[in-house]
Amino acid sequence: MSKNILHSWKNTPLASRVEEGSSKNFKTGSWRSKKPVHNKEICTNCLQCWINCPDNAIKVKDGNIDKIDYDFCKGCGICAEVCPVKAIEMKNEKDE
Ligand code: SF4
Ligand code: SF4
Repeated sequence: MSKNILHSWKNTPLASRVEEGSSKNFKTGSWRSKKPVHNKEICTNCLQCWINCPDNAIKVKDGNIDKIDYDFCKGCGICAEVCPVKAIEMKNEKDE
């Protein structure tokens, strides 16, 4: 099966085998009902959110939080829970 056919997880054929190493082809961000919003002003760049994100959706550049990749963030809220200074707020997806 061609990689180009699998634009998102919704296109995954039922009861079929998916090519190894192809998870980047499945943008799981559409699962989200709440989104994490990062406040750079109070972030201390301790990287706890980056370490704990199960989807590798928090991107780091030069040792600092760069951005949240909303194509893959599923909105689990773990990053907001572990942040010691509450620099990540979970907001309703519809409100953004
Ligand atoms: S856990 Fe909070 S303070 Fe630490 S890097 Fe993430 S957003 Fe910044
Ligand atoms: S909400 Fe969950 S998936 Fe999204 S960035 Fe935070 S820890 Fe990662």
